[in-house]
Amino acid sequence: MATPIGNAGDITLRALETLRGVDAVACEDTRTTGSLLRRYGISVPLFPYHEHNAAKVRPQILARVAAGEAIALVSDAGTPLVSDPGFKLVREAREAGLPVTHLPGANAAITALVLSGLPSDRFLFTGFLPNKGGPRRTALEELKPVPATLVLYESPQRLPDFLADAASVLGNREAAVARELTKLFEEVRRAPLPELAAHYAQAGPPKGEVVVVIAPPAEGAAQAEAADLDTLLRQALASMSVRDAAAHVATVTGQPKKQVYARALELASAARDGGP
Ligand code: SAM
Repeated sequence: MATPIGNAGDITLRALETLRGVDAVACEDTRTTGSLLRRYGISVPLFPYHEHNAAKVRPQILARVAAGEAIALVSDAGTPLVSDPGFKLVREAREAGLPVTHLPGANAAITALVLSGLPSDRFLFTGFLPNKGGPRRTALEELKPVPATLVLYESPQRLPDFLADAASVLGNREAAVARELTKLFEEVRRAPLPELAAHYAQAGPPKGEVVVVIAPPAEGAAQAEAADLDTLLRQALASMSVRDAAAHVATVTGQPKKQVYARALELASAARDGGP
């Protein structure tokens, strides 16, 4: 079930009622969940379930549920399984045919998307990207053609570097940094990526937690890029092997090698079959 992401009032009546009735609560940190439950006068046994003990504790939880107990799973904040533990527990409970349900509630990604004012009809939540420059830029390259608003979690310390990479890979897209959501100093800073990058390069890491929301590529940009890729590949294929042409075009465009190689293969085989 979901718990608040800052404002303690963001817990549903059903969540409180359920917490009062369960046999035990599996949580990331018993102190954090303990203080939430104390606030609402709820006394129920807590035990830790986090990435370091999950493999050992999971079978114990499943056995208790199989024996008829009701066990709640909560994370420190927001919705479990969303950049938090719980996926394997739910998967194994389903596989074992055990009853599972979710009590919806607070989630930082959806709250940031709603507040950003960026298109919400199609969005991709990508959690935390790799925290080092090279792998992070590769991940951003992969996300570049996705025709959807991107919603990402990032630590405040890494935010300035992340925004610098995002601006250099994704260009002048509109974006928002949503900070301290549901809390006293909630703030949404909205600007094109290069402007946000410049702001945080100067101001330094912000205080509190942040979500980054990035607008989709401009209409037609993905198609234009794909068309450019095909043109470049056809030119390269006229004088090079598929492998060399793909390597050359991947370097020139900065697009992922695997993707460029797959497209080069398609174009080469279409050309052999007399296609376009
Ligand atoms: N499961 C949680 C959820 O449903 O949102 C997310 C857990 S994840 C470990 C923690 C990240 O969520 C933070 O680094 C931050 O990116 C985001 N986050 C959580 N609470 C937030 C808040 N109040 N304001 C802004 N971002 C928040």
